[in-house]
Amino acid sequence: MTVEKNEELESLRQKIRTLTSEIMAKVQERTELARQVGEVKGRLGIDVKDERVEQEIRLMVARQAEKSGMDKEFALRLLNILLQESELVQKKGRPQKARQTHLGIFRKAKQMEAEGKRIIHLEVGEPDYPAPAQVGKALSESFAKKQYHYTDTRGIPALLEALSKQAGVKDDQVMVTPGGRFAVFSAIAALVKPGEEIITIEPAWPAYRECAEFVGARTRVLKTTMEQGWTPNLSELASMINENTRMIAINYPNNPTGKVIDKKTMAGIVALARDHNLHLLSDEVYSDYSFVPFEGALSHNYDRSIVVSSFSKTYAMTGFRIGYAVASADAIQKMAKVQAVGITSVAEPVQRAALAALGQDASGNVDLVKKRLAFLSSKVKEMSLRFVEPDGAMYVYPQLPAGEDMELVEKLLEKGVAIAPGSGFGDSYRQFVRISACRSEEEMAEGLAIMARALQGN
Ligand code: PMP
Repeated sequence: MTVEKNEELESLRQKIRTLTSEIMAKVQERTELARQVGEVKGRLGIDVKDERVEQEIRLMVARQAEKSGMDKEFALRLLNILLQESELVQKKGRPQKARQTHLGIFRKAKQMEAEGKRIIHLEVGEPDYPAPAQVGKALSESFAKKQYHYTDTRGIPALLEALSKQAGVKDDQVMVTPGGRFAVFSAIAALVKPGEEIITIEPAWPAYRECAEFVGARTRVLKTTMEQGWTPNLSELASMINENTRMIAINYPNNPTGKVIDKKTMAGIVALARDHNLHLLSDEVYSDYSFVPFEGALSHNYDRSIVVSSFSKTYAMTGFRIGYAVASADAIQKMAKVQAVGITSVAEPVQRAALAALGQDASGNVDLVKKRLAFLSSKVKEMSLRFVEPDGAMYVYPQLPAGEDMELVEKLLEKGVAIAPGSGFGDSYRQFVRISACRSEEEMAEGLAIMARALQGN
């Protein structure tokens, strides 16, 4: 009896081996075809990515799955892995324009500084004003009281309580993270599987796409334009959602455009997420720097929202590496697993410092950035560059009259001024640059005068 059963098992296993080998051979055949398609596209000068063709094949696979009784979600997840591979082999054969981000420029600028050159930093969103004095006090108190141990992965109770109270949620809906960046990472790593999709709205801070790529998920990009005032088109967004979509990532006030979307558009995005049961990752690290009324995702009471916040911008605490996420208890629990695996917990003294910062009035910082942004906007207007006046955040994102971003960025860097290339926020924005309002008016004026001369060819 047992012998017979084992034989049956072995025979089934053999069939599976044969089938797996056939599938692999077919996959290899498909990859080779994709490479050939890439060659033809290269000759014709066509983009590697073609959303229309992808959509056709997706529909075909969805129909086939329905007919055969295969789980549609699984079929589409497999397809996405194949599509990803095709894109990869097609891109391999192409001369790629290296994507430079604001961080790449920042690193270069720092290196030049180390070599003794003076640089005016208009490329990063890092405030030049200090963190609240109470932060330093809390740090030394933390040392004196020996409060420097592992903490609960989600954070120390006092900070969780203060943050949940501020957000109007329960304690178990908050997790303290090493910067808003890690809140973004843990949300994507915890909630999106390989082959699934996230939608980003570009221009965008590159981390959403980078995290998605890192976990093997696909990014679908909704492009916005300066002409539309950087407002996302809701019907376009709706048309991008399919069975594989898991998350929409939004960021208002926006980095790099400074845009805050109107209530109706925000409600529309939340409604789409709700209708399709999608996570809504709302990066609100600039919420305190909004100069128009801003309603975050929490005010929409959507239980699949993950709101990302940070101490970096409001309290000028970038180097402390502390931020937090607010979401459903279930999502937080999943994100906490990622955090536990990666870092155990945020440093306790840093959490205590953040708690001290939380009690401080940051309106002086906000007023200062508002004033600086107005100054920056007026200077960019003087250069006759086109841009949408920012509603918040710390940046102006103007369009260049001619040429590409990196030409100007590199030319300016040689002259001691660092600005960020627009293409770091999306491939379609090579005609844009991002200028940050994190320096004094004097420094900005000096840097912008050099930029104005460079634009005139000097
Ligand atoms: N989100 C956005 C949109 C940002 O611009 C930044 C910082 N540049 C962050 C999140 C992360 O900031 P941090 O990790 O310092 O909290």
